[in-house]
Amino acid sequence: MTIRKLIAGNWKMNGSLGMLHELDGIAKATFNHPELDVVICPSFTLIAPAIVRQPDMTFGAQDCHYDESGSHTGCVSAPMLREVGASYVIVGHSERRIEQNETNEEIRAKTTTAIANGLVTIVCIGESRAAHASGQALPIIGAQLDGCIPPDATSDNLVVAYEPIWAIGTGNTPPPESIAEMHASIRDRLCLLLGSEGKKVRILYGGSVTGKNAEELMAIPDVNGTLVGGASLTAEQFVPIIEAGG
Ligand code: PGA
Repeated sequence: MTIRKLIAGNWKMNGSLGMLHELDGIAKATFNHPELDVVICPSFTLIAPAIVRQPDMTFGAQDCHYDESGSHTGCVSAPMLREVGASYVIVGHSERRIEQNETNEEIRAKTTTAIANGLVTIVCIGESRAAHASGQALPIIGAQLDGCIPPDATSDNLVVAYEPIWAIGTGNTPPPESIAEMHASIRDRLCLLLGSEGKKVRILYGGSVTGKNAEELMAIPDVNGTLVGGASLTAEQFVPIIEAGG
C-alpha cells in the first residue's frame, strides 16, 4: 500500500507579512511535486495573507479550540479556520502541552471538533528526554494515542506526528532504528484504535528535520512525511525537504 507523503511546516510564533515572499519558492517546489502534500501552518494572523499570496497552496493552523464558538477570550475555533481557508490544523504540539498544560482529553476534544469541521488534524505526540532516557517512550506514546485519537477518525482526516521533545529544535534526531521502532509501534496502536483505517493514517516524524537529514528520515519504514519547525521558515531550507520527499 502506498501512502501519500505529507510535508508540513510549523512556523510556530515566527513569521511576518514581510516574510511571506518565502512562500513563492515553497509554492514552486510544491507544484513541482504533485505526488506530495505540502502544508504550511503559520500563525493565525498570517493564514489569510498567506492564502492571498499563494492561493493554490495548502495552509493550516497550529491550534484550535474544542468548542465551535463561545466565551473563550483569545481563542480561535475550527469553523473560523475553515472560513478563512485553512485545511489543516496541528493539535497537541508538545510546546502547547507544556506551556498551556494541554491534556490528552482536551487534545482529543479539539481533534473531534476540528475533524467535524472539515480540517485535516495533525495530532502531535512525543516523549520527554527523561522518559526517553528511562525507557518509557513506548508506554507514553501509547497512552497519548489512546487518549487523543477519536474512535471515528479516518486516514483522510487524521495525521499523527511523532515528535520526541528532546529532538525539537536541538539538532539531535534519534537513530533511524529508534524512529522505526516508534513508528511501528504507533502504526500497531492506530490499527488497534481505528481498524483498517489505522493502516493508512500518515505518521510524520518531527524534530530537527533539515534538508540534510530529510531523505534518510523519509526512507524509514512507516515514516510518511515530516513535521518541520525551524527549517520550514525559508524557501532555502524548506525546498530541499520537499525535494527529499518527492
Ligand atoms: P524543529 O521543530 O523542526 O525546529 O525541531 C519541529 C516541531 O516542533 O514541530
